[in-house]
Amino acid sequence: MNDGLANAEHETAELIDEINETAFERWYERRRRRLRIRDRGSLSREDTDAGATAWPSALWKCTRRRYYDEHDAPKEGRLPRGRFWVGRQVETELVIPFLDSRLEDDSHYVQGSVWVEIPLEDEGGTVTLRGCTDPCIVDANGNPLLVTEVKTCDPPHRDAPADHHIRQLQAYLGAFRELDQTSEPTGVVLYVDRRDFTLRSFEVPFDPTIWKEVRCQAREHRDIVGSDQLPPANPEYDWECDVCPYRHRCGESTMPFADRPEKGFLPLLETYTRSAVREHLAAHSTVDLTPTLADRFPELAEHATVVPWTCGRCAAAISSFDRTYHPGDRPLCPHCAEAGSIVELTPPTLDEN
Ligand code: SF4
Ligand SMILES: [Zn+2]
Repeated sequence: MNDGLANAEHETAELIDEINETAFERWYERRRRRLRIRDRGSLSREDTDAGATAWPSALWKCTRRRYYDEHDAPKEGRLPRGRFWVGRQVETELVIPFLDSRLEDDSHYVQGSVWVEIPLEDEGGTVTLRGCTDPCIVDANGNPLLVTEVKTCDPPHRDAPADHHIRQLQAYLGAFRELDQTSEPTGVVLYVDRRDFTLRSFEVPFDPTIWKEVRCQAREHRDIVGSDQLPPANPEYDWECDVCPYRHRCGESTMPFADRPEKGFLPLLETYTRSAVREHLAAHSTVDLTPTLADRFPELAEHATVVPWTCGRCAAAISSFDRTYHPGDRPLCPHCAEAGSIVELTPPTLDEN
């Protein structure tokens, strides 16, 4: 037997020695403990009624968008679930296993997320900062040591983390410090390029100045959502309007609306989902259905008042039709049609709605 073959046989024998009952038991127990800790933080939300809620992920969004969110304005279309789904997959299938692979001993663990909830009080009342972190590295007692903020992105890697990602992370770092004076975790922003899954990391140590800003912003948020005045539109980035579910109502689209209040459906807008319509009707007994939505969701129209279309010529008020017109076109007055005239009906105005 030559030396090469003898060495290979020796290595194989060593490997086989490693694959035994004791090693399996040790591995299995370690894996069980790590999985239990990994999934511990994926809590369901426990709502409490202690004042307004401020979410670290939303604190710096456009003020008006937050107002619409908090006042349950009906969303004007589906959420871009694809992006959200990719983000979750990247966390669970890449980031968590990667972090876990970095931890060689049993004094540190990866927890999928940690629920944070801290009431902030001042003379104006209480606002509760609530949120769920991205994966954290914790000690054996579950105290967070490193909090990540994972972002999937298309463009090439950045040279520095974005301000709003830093602020979001600082909100968690500050909250952990206030909740437990002995816990002083640091943060890291991880950018994962969704095209090729390359990763770039930036350490973000706790910054007491930004934490103070977070607290101010949370108080401001409480005051905005507690008011019944539509606040100004002030997105920090242009893309916020592109992905905003209230852009028609707000006035950032080609539809003829602007600065509309949070209640009611926009005439002629077809993109509301069934669940958005159902929930908005259930939350506001004074809101009526537009004929466009009654036509799309006849089962909801059975239990709601439908504001009619009107004919400018014969003054007929008409709430439902056989669907003989193309979506997006205005329907024709059936009475005038019978009399030989083609007259387009006028949709309800927003105030009638
Ligand atoms: S469309 Fe733009 S400005 Fe209007 S609420 Fe949404 S984010 Fe704010
Ligand atoms: Zn008519």
